[in-house]
Amino acid sequence: MRDNSQSNGITRNVIAVLMCAALYFSVLFSAFFIVNEYHHDCVGEECPICQCIAECEAFVNQISSGLIIVFIALLTLAIAADSYRMFVSLFSANTLVTQKVRLNN
Ligand SMILES: [Zn+2]
Repeated sequence: MRDNSQSNGITRNVIAVLMCAALYFSVLFSAFFIVNEYHHDCVGEECPICQCIAECEAFVNQISSGLIIVFIALLTLAIAADSYRMFVSLFSANTLVTQKVRLNN
C-alpha cells in the first residue's frame, strides 16, 4: 500500500511531464505555423494570419528567453555544486581513518 505523500509525488511527476509535453508541442506547433504561413496571401492590415503569426512569434520568444534563464540557473547550480565538492575534497583531512584503511596490529 502506497503512502499518501508518495502518491502525491507521482501525481506531481505526471503533471510535470504533461506540462513539459504541452509546452514542447505548443512551441513546436507555433514554429510550424510561422514557417508554414510565412508566405501567405496577405490581405493587408487586419490580416488574421499576420496577427496569429505575431502572437506565435511572441510566444516562442517568451518561452525561449525563459528556457535560457532556466539553463543559466541550472549551469550555475552545477558549477556551485562542483566547486563545493572540490572545496571539501581539498580541505578535508586525508587520514587513514577517513580512507577507511584497516590497521591490523
Ligand atoms: Zn497577412
